[in-house]
Amino acid sequence: MTLVSYAEVLDTKTKETLESRFSAPVVQIYQGAEGFIGSTCKNGRLHVNEDILYLEMEDAGDANNRNIKNVILTDLYRITQPVIRYRLNDLIEIDEKPCGCGSCFKVIKQIHGRADDLFYLKSRNLKIGRNGETQTCILFPDYIRRSINQASDAVLEYQVIQHSIDSIEIRLKLKDMKDLSIIEKQILHNLEFWAVKIDGELGNVKFNTDKFEPNPQSKKMIRIERRY
Ligand SMILES: [Zn+2]
Repeated sequence: MTLVSYAEVLDTKTKETLESRFSAPVVQIYQGAEGFIGSTCKNGRLHVNEDILYLEMEDAGDANNRNIKNVILTDLYRITQPVIRYRLNDLIEIDEKPCGCGSCFKVIKQIHGRADDLFYLKSRNLKIGRNGETQTCILFPDYIRRSINQASDAVLEYQVIQHSIDSIEIRLKLKDMKDLSIIEKQILHNLEFWAVKIDGELGNVKFNTDKFEPNPQSKKMIRIERRY
């Protein structure tokens, strides 16, 4: 048996949980309304389907210089509904290491999620731009995921919502609620580490144990979401 994940970000923790519960490997296909963009090879790496697509990439501006890109997609075969230089809303990280399977198609190291869900933080240094606008820096969703996953194994579920440039809400469900205050402190500490690294100000971070809310429009349960 093999499990196939698609249409949502598959984080490492979820992948490992699924693999151990079902005793089966989890592979990804990368597919959306825009087309069939990537599939996993026999070595378990996700390749871009460059035989049917042409991808242009723009640097997404990760402060740690990872190879994270915005993607502009052209489908080479669609005729009835052409997709030509269409900007996807996804951020992907490209792995420069060639794959041992023999395919020369680009390898996607990680799909980082929707560009819409990047958190924007106020910059620590350049607070006001030339035209009076607030300067911002980008906090990628995987830094938020890591801050929570590395804080404690006792976190069963979480939802992080950015409501404004200086307001972040974190909802937590824990194995044992008596650990709540220690885990909150650790998550905040981890988030501050990443904020400093990208030269941003975290702003006001509030924790609670409220029920998780699906996105009001899509009704999907999105773990890390910017709502402004
Ligand atoms: Zn491969």
